[in-house]
Amino acid sequence: MAVTFLETPVEYLKGVGPARAGMLKKELQIFTFGDLLTFFPFRYVDRSKFYRISEIKDENAFIQIKAQIAHIQIVGSPRNQRLIATVSDDSGEIDLVWFHGIKWIEEKLIPLQEYIIFGKPALFNGRFNIPHPDLEVPSIEPLPLNETIRPVYSSTEKLKSKGLDFKGIGKLIKTLMLNDRFHVPENLTTEIMKPLHLLSRQEAFVNIHFPQSPELLSKAQARLKFEELFFIQLRLARQRAGRLQKQTGLPFLKVGDYVNGFYHHHLSFELTRAQKRVIKEIRADLGSGNQMNRLLQGDVGSGKTLVALMTMLIALDNGCQCCLMAPTEILANQHYQTISQMLAGMDINVQLLTGSTKTTRRTVIREGLLDGTVNLLIGTHALLEENVRFKKLGLVVIDEQHRFGVAQRAKLWKKNVIPPHVLVMTATPIPRTLAMTLYGDLDNSVIDEMPPGRKSVVTRHIYESDRYKIFSFIRGKIREGRQIYIVYPLIQESESLDLQNLEDGYQTFLSEFPPPCVVGMLHGQMKQPEKDAVMRRFVENRIHILVSTTVIEVGVDVSNASVMVIENADRFGLSQLHQLRGRVGRGGNQSYCILVSGHALSAEARKRITTMVRTTDGFEIAETDLQIRGPGDLMGTQQSGILNLRIADIVRDEKILHYARNLASDIIRDDPALTQEKNDILARHLRHIDQQSQNWGLIS
Ligand code: ADP
Ligand code: MG
Repeated sequence: MAVTFLETPVEYLKGVGPARAGMLKKELQIFTFGDLLTFFPFRYVDRSKFYRISEIKDENAFIQIKAQIAHIQIVGSPRNQRLIATVSDDSGEIDLVWFHGIKWIEEKLIPLQEYIIFGKPALFNGRFNIPHPDLEVPSIEPLPLNETIRPVYSSTEKLKSKGLDFKGIGKLIKTLMLNDRFHVPENLTTEIMKPLHLLSRQEAFVNIHFPQSPELLSKAQARLKFEELFFIQLRLARQRAGRLQKQTGLPFLKVGDYVNGFYHHHLSFELTRAQKRVIKEIRADLGSGNQMNRLLQGDVGSGKTLVALMTMLIALDNGCQCCLMAPTEILANQHYQTISQMLAGMDINVQLLTGSTKTTRRTVIREGLLDGTVNLLIGTHALLEENVRFKKLGLVVIDEQHRFGVAQRAKLWKKNVIPPHVLVMTATPIPRTLAMTLYGDLDNSVIDEMPPGRKSVVTRHIYESDRYKIFSFIRGKIREGRQIYIVYPLIQESESLDLQNLEDGYQTFLSEFPPPCVVGMLHGQMKQPEKDAVMRRFVENRIHILVSTTVIEVGVDVSNASVMVIENADRFGLSQLHQLRGRVGRGGNQSYCILVSGHALSAEARKRITTMVRTTDGFEIAETDLQIRGPGDLMGTQQSGILNLRIADIVRDEKILHYARNLASDIIRDDPALTQEKNDILARHLRHIDQQSQNWGLIS
């Protein structure tokens, strides 16, 4: 097939030799003309607006000034030279600084000449300067209207050394657009574009790089944001439709003795309305003849495990085996304990398989799985191993899914001829917009209600200097018979320092809380049996204060623990704080979460802490987290690649996302495989995206 204009390798562009091409590929993943064209400016500068030097108050924002060169000098040792040009306008003066290309630039600078200076001020020794600015002699002609908005592209030091600073990149794109063959084919139908008044794709590309006016810039942005979100949604909708159509599932039609027996004789409480609703949703899926692929979201303590258990019982009633996979050994153990307890007296063979299961035991379990005598297998990654095979695996439950990669999930699918139903549980609520983008092809169930009688955890922020207050508070709680968690951060880079902190904290608590009070310590560097022993003693209330790192983060359930003290709370992310807080408030006692920090807090850390104090709603916390950090940093999203959005922003562009999603699902409902002629153009673009991103991380 002939290479289209946009597919032309970037080295064929005038001004790009092999060296620059190599650099563009390596630094910016720009391989083709099309890639270059979708390398959008990350901001724009209004070239008609000039700052006065005295107005410069901020770092990190591009500005423009009009000033005259007063003085040029080269300073520093020969190995560490800088070129400084001091410029002034009628409000003051500022230094322009160059660290590279000194000789060449010095020759070009003309003293007393007035320049338009464009750059990003930096604060140095309490004074602003502008490193490596861009200089231009003002033209006598007024700027043409269509050049007042100047695009700014991100670049790297390496690219800059090849003359590809933001301006150089802009030049390449301009060259591309001036090419006779420049043409951007449309990828949306008129039917879609018309009601939204979208620009054509070509117009949008031209205006995103070289806006003819502010209005056209925002129209170009709107068009490209829509396009980006729409095709993600269209792809997800098509995948989902394809799965429902092709993927036969095991039909679980029966509700039998296991479910009924458990429900009537083993369940000591009434299910919440939300739990009932979700179980109904799951049952409908399981009975549909299609494979279930469902995401079960619910805040910590909302009773997801119970829902998972009921789902597993349905699978057993229909003659299948099931497995539950947890991200850590502690969690797998805990699931094993609670589930065995809840099922005690029922004729169900539950087994635990983790990395530390002995070989002889493994062999027994493997045989039981093969001959069908093991009904329910709980474990860690160990479940994924090739030699773990089932007689008839009907359901896979994955807990805390963000810790598992997609490839791992896919492995579980292959453990049965007809792929087992999949229920993915996550206690880190995912903001709606993110769920739509990330898990758009999974069905979604939400437990949005807590079991009755839960008192919401009271959260307080305490400064380190007021630590004595915490001690007396804890003393009171221990007298009431409660248990306490003290959590320290543990971050890779400063691991030994953190361990020292933990150790110091442990010593402090030992001396503040002498026997009969028992203080225990738990951290990731301890051997597994040691960890398990400590955890067990805490569960049995033989340890009263547990000083630990975040190893207790997920899922651990000790309902008598009612105080969670988080040291250096400013060093934790929001979702982590929320997870940790979820460890308390599990019993009937009023519980407390105390966030300890120093006085010096960054704005973000302060926002995280005040959010925690304000609300216990996991979804609200997740939304705030998304706003503070952006999707790229949220747990589990980094590796997905889906969120490497080029222009859209799932927080700010939520409206567009909703519209795109609805439209995509309408189109797919009407034409599931996009075979209708009018949808040709969409199908073609999807094929193109598929080719480009064969490693999209999605279950399908
Ligand atoms: P999650 O997995 O969502 O964090 P769990 O399933 O571990 O929550 O439930 C937390 C605690 O609440 C457990 O001790 C569980 O037995 C209890 N629980 C679950 N559902 C109910 C309910 N409907 N009523 C009372 N307690 C419940
Ligand atoms: Mg749980």
